[in-house]
Amino acid sequence: MPGMSVRATLGIDIGGTNIKGGVLDEQDRLLARRAIETRAEEGFEASFARIVALIEELIAEAGIARSGITAVGVGVPGPMDHAAGVVRHAPNLDGWVDIPLRTLLSERTGLTCVIENDANAAAFGEFVGGTQRTATDMVMLTLGTGIGGGVILGGRLVRGRFDNAGEVGHMIVAIGGRACPCGQRGCLERYASANAIRERLIEAVRAGETSVLAPQVYGSEPLTTEDVCRAAQEGDQAAERVWEEACRMLAAACVNLQHVLNPGLIVLAGGLINAGEALLGPVRRAFTELTWKICEDYPRIEPAVLGGDAGLLGAAALAREALAQRGA
Ligand SMILES: [Zn+2]
Repeated sequence: MPGMSVRATLGIDIGGTNIKGGVLDEQDRLLARRAIETRAEEGFEASFARIVALIEELIAEAGIARSGITAVGVGVPGPMDHAAGVVRHAPNLDGWVDIPLRTLLSERTGLTCVIENDANAAAFGEFVGGTQRTATDMVMLTLGTGIGGGVILGGRLVRGRFDNAGEVGHMIVAIGGRACPCGQRGCLERYASANAIRERLIEAVRAGETSVLAPQVYGSEPLTTEDVCRAAQEGDQAAERVWEEACRMLAAACVNLQHVLNPGLIVLAGGLINAGEALLGPVRRAFTELTWKICEDYPRIEPAVLGGDAGLLGAAALAREALAQRGA
């Protein structure tokens, strides 16, 4: 019978738009992969039923005996109690408040389940699955709508006392700066996320700065972060200022991480890294300028290599690790 002795782990990555799932063998090879729409507006019960169905489909598609599935790792966007397996609040998922997801999912599927913060899972996925990753100490910053992150020290994911370690997007980089929905001011993600870069250009134009993007700010055609990047490359002063400031804020955050954690590697991930050298160049240059000169303990700053599968890969790897710790 095919797959009789194969042991595999499932990884599920729940996002506001899509839910991705994969089945990984013990060498982290993807045996099956599938993505469905989240339909977050339908509420918890509906999305939970869709996740259960996705798990069953993945097992069938991988052609593995159910007894060969060691565990299911699930990445969830939002604060959680990792030890209790409870999702506290996922702001992008309607009705996901105080959900004992691990217990509910284990009961429904009969499988061992582990839940993780989605940004932590993505960082761990990039750590174990990125082909050029040689560092044991790594910090990842995911630059998307907001800025998420994850910290790996000595090869282990760092969760912290309250499971919120790695919230790099809420490091304060400008005291008294821009207000953040989290309640602080001057958070990194209010300057250097894809959303913040677009918002800041719009604010600059509305405040009277001239820019080739003004027609888009006032017109019906939507302004994207890619537009701001392109205009900055082409010498538009307002776009250049906003882009350069975002890169400097990121570099300052990297310097702070360097001094607190001393990682060998800082990985930049998320949609913003599609800008390539236009992002990496200024961040690396500003890092060199801003960091101390008394010791050459500089981390490499590199782009992520896994793309959208990092979250499901990391969720599966962390589930496997949790099992190993329990001696299963
Ligand atoms: Zn914040």
